[in-house]
Amino acid sequence: MTMSDDFLHRFQLERAGVRGALVRLDHSWQRVRANGDYSGPLAELLGQTLAASALFTSSIKFDGRLSIHLRDSGALRLLFADCTHDGQLRGIARWHGPLPQAPVQLEAGARLAITIENAVTDTRYQGLVPVEGDALAHAFEGYFARSEQLPTRIVLAAAGDRCGGLMLQQIASAGGAAMGDADGWNRVGHLLATLTDEELLGLPPEQVLLRLFHEEGVRLQPAQPLAFGCTCSLTRVEDMLRALGRAESEAALAEQGSVDVNCEFCNRRYVLDEADIAALFEAEPPAATRH
Ligand SMILES: [Zn+2]
Repeated sequence: MTMSDDFLHRFQLERAGVRGALVRLDHSWQRVRANGDYSGPLAELLGQTLAASALFTSSIKFDGRLSIHLRDSGALRLLFADCTHDGQLRGIARWHGPLPQAPVQLEAGARLAITIENAVTDTRYQGLVPVEGDALAHAFEGYFARSEQLPTRIVLAAAGDRCGGLMLQQIASAGGAAMGDADGWNRVGHLLATLTDEELLGLPPEQVLLRLFHEEGVRLQPAQPLAFGCTCSLTRVEDMLRALGRAESEAALAEQGSVDVNCEFCNRRYVLDEADIAALFEAEPPAATRH
């Protein structure tokens, strides 16, 4: 039996006045990857997106979830990942045509939507990130600089059976001035640039941080476990069918004898028979007689 290596660690670098998060995904990532047909470059992009979704939940202070959704990037039809406040994550990518064998270039005009849902107040906030080229991490840094006015550095990696990420953010005092010493932010940025993908994905988290920041007063918080988790349910499937309308469901019934809905995130299959569909639209008259 192997230990699961899926965690989020928050930490502070006291001397530099920086807070950070370190994420590594192992079993959860393998589960996400097994649900789709991914070539190496596409898996790398999805793994980085998944790690980013977990990293970004590190600064959310309420119950809810954060999702990352790429739109309008040509053959890359869909790239999506989300993570809940308690560490359940899932993701998906869809490619149109033969799978890419070279690193995926995101098209000019592609946008990443970052959506934060607060489950307590039932509100959502969405920010859009323009993205181009192959470096997701740079696009995310720009997002935090603009949306939170926080200098941010992000490293993302996916290779083999693991993916992971490391994020640093400068802590500002109530008056807006940086909290650490004057050169702190600059210094930790240079240190972070020496981190290799192998170290990020392979070393124990304490060692990653001590190797980089041993003179910065690392305060590592306990690990929060992360795991694959899907929020699909029969209720959500029923809501979706109601939104599609009675005629759609009845057409599927007539064609296949049942309405089959497959969750693309977890491959769970929901099968609704004639009686289920009738009950679902009980309050509505049959589609054929509706005007
Ligand atoms: Zn599901």
